[in-house]
Amino acid sequence: MARGEAWDAAPILMGFLGRRPIDPAGWRHACVWCSWCATWHGHGDDTTVPGDVLHRASHCRIPDGPYQDHGYRIVVTNVPLSDVYRLMRQPTPKQIDAMQDGQTTEAVKRLRAQEIPFLREHR
Ligand SMILES: [Zn+2]
Repeated sequence: MARGEAWDAAPILMGFLGRRPIDPAGWRHACVWCSWCATWHGHGDDTTVPGDVLHRASHCRIPDGPYQDHGYRIVVTNVPLSDVYRLMRQPTPKQIDAMQDGQTTEAVKRLRAQEIPFLREHR
């Protein structure tokens, strides 16, 4: 997406380079923690480097999230995804179903309230 109104309106998330367990071998991209669906979304490709700022549409499976209208800007850090990936708790399939139905249970609230420890420690 080009810079402009959508760029300015898009929230900023930290990006971490690496490969998620669901990605094919050899794959590497910038991953962001989505606090709406409480999963990692992957963007970019193996040309993405720390310091890049990407603007992407969210891959969120849960409707009505904060990134639906304008996507988000990803500031790519030099912290590898492998340092933070497993620190975040992700929803069960049942919790994903509940979120897709618009239900916000206490467990879903806790999932969404998680902060990436790296950011908490460096505030
Ligand atoms: Zn999401």
